[in-house]
Amino acid sequence: MSEYRYITYEELDEGRIARITLDRPRYRNAQHRGLLVELDEAFVRAEQDDTVRVVVLAGNGPVFSSGHDMGTAERNAERDPDSPDFHPTYAINGATRKSAEKKMLGEYHYFYGNALRWRKLRKITIAQVQGPVFAAALTLIWPCDLIVAADNASFTDPVGVQMGMCGVEYFGHPWEFGPRRAKEMLLTGKPMSAQEAERIGMVNRVVPLDELAERTLELAREVARRPTMTALMIKDSVNQMLDQQGFTNALEAAFTLHQLNHAHWAEIYGGRVAHAEADEGAVEWKGGR
Ligand code: ZN
Repeated sequence: MSEYRYITYEELDEGRIARITLDRPRYRNAQHRGLLVELDEAFVRAEQDDTVRVVVLAGNGPVFSSGHDMGTAERNAERDPDSPDFHPTYAINGATRKSAEKKMLGEYHYFYGNALRWRKLRKITIAQVQGPVFAAALTLIWPCDLIVAADNASFTDPVGVQMGMCGVEYFGHPWEFGPRRAKEMLLTGKPMSAQEAERIGMVNRVVPLDELAERTLELAREVARRPTMTALMIKDSVNQMLDQQGFTNALEAAFTLHQLNHAHWAEIYGGRVAHAEADEGAVEWKGGR
């Protein structure tokens, strides 16, 4: 496991189940570049390993993930070319371009395209979530095939209220919550309880927090008993139905609107930031979210 700094990768049940755990509990598993790149590498590793049948995605600590890292020292260092912790991906994939092109390409590779890739992983994936799940944390769980939630979990995307943005980059909201509930959540930022999420089908089951890991493993073990071909065809049958309904095209379209929304704020703020601040109606959240 030592090859990762920000996640752990475990092989359970003689390697039939791979469990990837976000492991920045000090920052509530906030997603900086280092974590996202390691997570992508771990998903690919599990996909390549023919022994693995099911992948569990979990988070260490009281919160599965607090969304994008909005400013820890580690996050700032990985963007600083003079820092020993400069992340090499800040020199590729559009990071050396300017303005909206730089923003769009960075978000495409690390906030969007990766999630679409995980959705198509050639293994069954199960997200295991606890605590408040908001903003970019949703983009880690929605691409998974199944979701098990602790009874203390809640779900919301507050970036409309807090940042003047039309939701996170992977726009699964109307597909997961339904269109009317999605609009309400994005316009108000109010969270949905785990129980409501189960009722509307956004999560598969709600379990007591202290049973979360074991109950998720139970489900993983049950799914792992299915023939791999059968499991994959079931996954693809459902995902292809969603794509026939326009899922992927709708997400592509929403991604471009998201970039338009960023460009709006970047123009207002002269490029200093690409989201709304309090003077433009954003609700203050730092320290209180
Ligand atoms: Zn964005």
